[in-house]
Amino acid sequence: MDAGKILQEIAGQVAVCEKCELHFSRKKAVPGEGPAQAEILFIGEGPGFYENEQGRPFVGQAGKFLDELLAKAGLKREDVFITNVVKCRPPGNRDPQPEELLACAGYLDRQIEAIAPRLIVTLGRFSMAKFIPNAKISEVHGQAVWVRGRLVVAMYHPAAALHQPSLKATLEADFVHLPEFVKMAKSKVGLEQAPVVQTETEDSDGAQGAADKEQPTQLSLF
Ligand code: SF4
Repeated sequence: MDAGKILQEIAGQVAVCEKCELHFSRKKAVPGEGPAQAEILFIGEGPGFYENEQGRPFVGQAGKFLDELLAKAGLKREDVFITNVVKCRPPGNRDPQPEELLACAGYLDRQIEAIAPRLIVTLGRFSMAKFIPNAKISEVHGQAVWVRGRLVVAMYHPAAALHQPSLKATLEADFVHLPEFVKMAKSKVGLEQAPVVQTETEDSDGAQGAADKEQPTQLSLF
């Protein structure tokens, strides 16, 4: 089956899924959207109010900001695939619970396999934890890490910048590097020799991130 058909099949299953309690309060499940051959896969946390109404990911204020961030990286929403770790809205936008994350994980795993993205960008700590468990987002954001043969970059969730404006500049600085990360993923730079690749972004308060605290192999891409 081709990737598009697999994604459609997943979307159909998500729409009627009752694997966790989130199905009780959902209006519309949000499987995610974008081209089946997308080079970049963005993974957020879960649908919010507007996403639950429309069945589409990142359509509220955070979605508008995501569009702006994509533009800064020279990308359009139609170029990328966007989804979440849970496909149904946690009531009141609460955090997804471990059992909900577990129940929903299979859909995301199948989406990743079907899309086979060059680069995975996690937005927020829940999607980051899927690939880089126990990491602190304040320390690893904007850095690319090879995880099971895929290049993964953890970033703050755009909604976090709406609540905490000081994160806006940090997110913008991290997004600017996306095209370079895609290039890196294509050439598999660092896959063999370096488990971690650092960027030189700064936290919005001006403090250098983990890039300067540790000295893993650094690639001269920037
Ligand atoms: S969040 Fe995921 S596992 Fe839970 S009901 Fe929705 S699709 Fe199913």
